Amino acid sequence: MSVTGSFQLMKSLNRSLILNIIRLNGPISRAEIAKRTKLTPPTVTNLVTELLDSKLVRESEIGISKGGRKPILLTIDWKSSYVIGLDVGGHRATAVLTDLNAEIELQQMQSLPEQLTVESLLQFLITMIDNLIKDSGIPKKKILGIGIGMHGIVNHSKGMGVFAPNFKLRNIPIKDAMQTQFSIPTFVENDARALTLGESWFGNGIGFENIICVNLGVGIGAGIILQNELFHGRDGIAGEIGHTIVDLNGSKCSCGSYGCLQTVAGGGILKQRVIKELSLGRQSIIQDKVNVSGGKITGELIHQCAIEGDPLAIEMLAETGRLLGIGLTNMINFMNPDRIIVGGGVAKAKEFILNPLKDVVRSRALTPEARETEIVLSKLGDQGTVIGAVTLVLKNLYTHSY
Ligand SMILES: [Zn+2]
Repeated sequence: MSVTGSFQLMKSLNRSLILNIIRLNGPISRAEIAKRTKLTPPTVTNLVTELLDSKLVRESEIGISKGGRKPILLTIDWKSSYVIGLDVGGHRATAVLTDLNAEIELQQMQSLPEQLTVESLLQFLITMIDNLIKDSGIPKKKILGIGIGMHGIVNHSKGMGVFAPNFKLRNIPIKDAMQTQFSIPTFVENDARALTLGESWFGNGIGFENIICVNLGVGIGAGIILQNELFHGRDGIAGEIGHTIVDLNGSKCSCGSYGCLQTVAGGGILKQRVIKELSLGRQSIIQDKVNVSGGKITGELIHQCAIEGDPLAIEMLAETGRLLGIGLTNMINFMNPDRIIVGGGVAKAKEFILNPLKDVVRSRALTPEARETEIVLSKLGDQGTVIGAVTLVLKNLYTHSY
């Protein structure tokens, strides 16, 4: 496998350090870089020359002189190279091509086939990436890396999907397959962890050292940023808040345990609860809308009915919010984060979920300060995981880590 080009260049810690200073503070002069990095001016000059040669950095305007020659300022050339990100959910996959600031240039989405084997899944991802590159018209050599946010349990260091519950597949060698196919460095992470990294770099986690980002869907996942780094734990399951046990006598979870948070507060149970109430004869416009459209009860439909003031929809979303509030209160007492970010499909119900959730945290967290822990919605929304996948690559480029 050949991993060439600009990425190879970043194998030097100091180059990454300079590149990141330019990313965060550009346009910036060489002298200012030397001051901030504490590298010697000749070292900075040499490394900047290499970065200029790589085209990742370019000279921009002339700075203000503090006496003497006016300095030439440096800036990242955001469109000099590109990154591919993939969000592989339970039912569909999204692929994006972004510039070096995670700005999306092209996005493509596809439903995943019902029946998948490890081989057909890998082939599906390869075809998706292939199409994205072809349709973008960008030469492959300009693509720095591929980041993939994969649902289920992921071994990020091996780039392996350990278990994908929706596909019922185990040991999916995603990183190896993509690198063999494309010769482009590939990074793989659990989807909730990728979302968390994305929010930390480009969303509502910017500037916070310790955050928890919760992904509310059919399942409930979360990622933890501790002192600005993703925390994985020994086996990569750190943050699996959906499987914390909140009901000792609860029903069976997809993980095999009983009474997990996602069995009471996941998107699936929300729909089931609505169906049960309707079958017991509760009046609701949810029933009317389903009858008219002949469709199914979905999270969006429940949200829409809540907006229209339907008491059942509001009550059911509030119940989900309160149960999530219990789960998050436990997380706050355990980790004491600076901020909690809530994303995922169920989070689209916004205040209908968030307000009851916050009420629980305000009344149940340990200290007055903990009760005031900020809880905000994801900024990146539907694109959070895919931007997070891109961030896996950018983090390696700019900080020489991951
Ligand atoms: Zn579970």
